[in-house]
Amino acid sequence: MLNEWKKEASAADERDPLAAYQREFYFPEHVRVYLDGNSLGLLSHRAEAAVQQALEEWKTKAIGGWGDASPPWFHQAEQLGASAAALVGSLPHETIIAGSITSNLHQLLHTFYRPGAKRRKIVMEAGAFPTDHYAVTSLLRSCNQEDALVLVYPDEHHILHEEDIEAAVTDETALVLLPSVLYRTGQRLNMKQLTKHASDAGAVIGWDLAHSFGVMPHELHELEADFAVWCTYKYANSGPGGTAGLFVHEKHHHLTPALAGWFGSDKDVQFDMEETFTPAAGAGAFQQGTPPILSTAPLLGSLEMLLEAGIERIRAKSLQLTTLLRRGITLLPEEETKDLRIITPAEGTGGHLAVTHPYAAGICEALKKEGIIPDYREPNIIRLAPSPLTTSAADIVFTVETLHDILKKETYLQYKNERGSIA
Ligand SMILES: *Cc1c(COP(=O)(O)O)cnc(C)c1O
Repeated sequence: MLNEWKKEASAADERDPLAAYQREFYFPEHVRVYLDGNSLGLLSHRAEAAVQQALEEWKTKAIGGWGDASPPWFHQAEQLGASAAALVGSLPHETIIAGSITSNLHQLLHTFYRPGAKRRKIVMEAGAFPTDHYAVTSLLRSCNQEDALVLVYPDEHHILHEEDIEAAVTDETALVLLPSVLYRTGQRLNMKQLTKHASDAGAVIGWDLAHSFGVMPHELHELEADFAVWCTYKYANSGPGGTAGLFVHEKHHHLTPALAGWFGSDKDVQFDMEETFTPAAGAGAFQQGTPPILSTAPLLGSLEMLLEAGIERIRAKSLQLTTLLRRGITLLPEEETKDLRIITPAEGTGGHLAVTHPYAAGICEALKKEGIIPDYREPNIIRLAPSPLTTSAADIVFTVETLHDILKKETYLQYKNERGSIA
């Protein structure tokens, strides 16, 4: 069985239309397989060149770069937003590259949350990423609505059921905030069904695309999602703290940003330096201060690669690799894998596979020793993200064989079973 699986893997690599991209990335010394691109994507030569160009422009043009850098710094956020629109399925002016997930969440939550006497609840998943929890609870605190939070819990197998989310949305729900893909388990939610359900119930729905931006296609405009946020340093390889993105549906472009700043101004009047704010016509209105040009530069290179590779082909390869990984793990001998559990649902897989094991932290350390970089999450989760541009099917074979060896020899016992890597 394993032999057949290996043959299938090598056939997949031979037919892979995205194979050449792997050579465009830097792999740290001693790293053979990098499965942590859902936490921090690798640096590509193109992203590096884009940063060098930005530095050169600063060096040679100084203040002139706002008007004649390529693209002009003054328009970089809008231009990149229009390019990124293809990855989120938005109109060009519905997307802007700005801020961080956290700052964009605050901006959009404060803008969209308008509690009424009856309709004032916010529905989110109990396992949401901490920053999403903090943003929502601090918003509710600032509006004296601490009791308006409704959390939806997963079942005992870590699965979050769409029906449970739907049941939590009532005529008292003002806003629903959900992830496209759950950051721990890799479960993909049905965005179409949930967006429709929330909208039909009269609630605003916002999506956190942290774990799907750059690895899955989206249809934000078509679905009539109200708003969305995402970061670009995970599957979009923009580097640590790389500038994030946000989407606001066209139907909401009349809204005044709750947390206004001068870079959200209509560009024609921004330098009139008026005391009253004239917001830009599109999603650009939700920017705040001067855009971080140097932290955005890598995205110029990496976005070009994502668009060239094509998000449909990226998703197809991602599914092929996670399926291969799932099958490989399932084919290992029962006695060695009895404590290992794949918790990502087969019918709803995002970009990564999550497995649990009582010695998860030790297994991660043992994998790293062999040049494989996984991701550890408390208390017992190993996340394995085969980023499509930086991972091959042969890498998956090596990973499964190495994992098998670690489980068979119990080498994880040599490592302390405690906190692994950060973030
Ligand atoms: C990675 C991640 C974040 C990180 O937010 P930042 O503001 O970029 O630090 C937020 N939410 C989710 C779901 C994430 O996976």
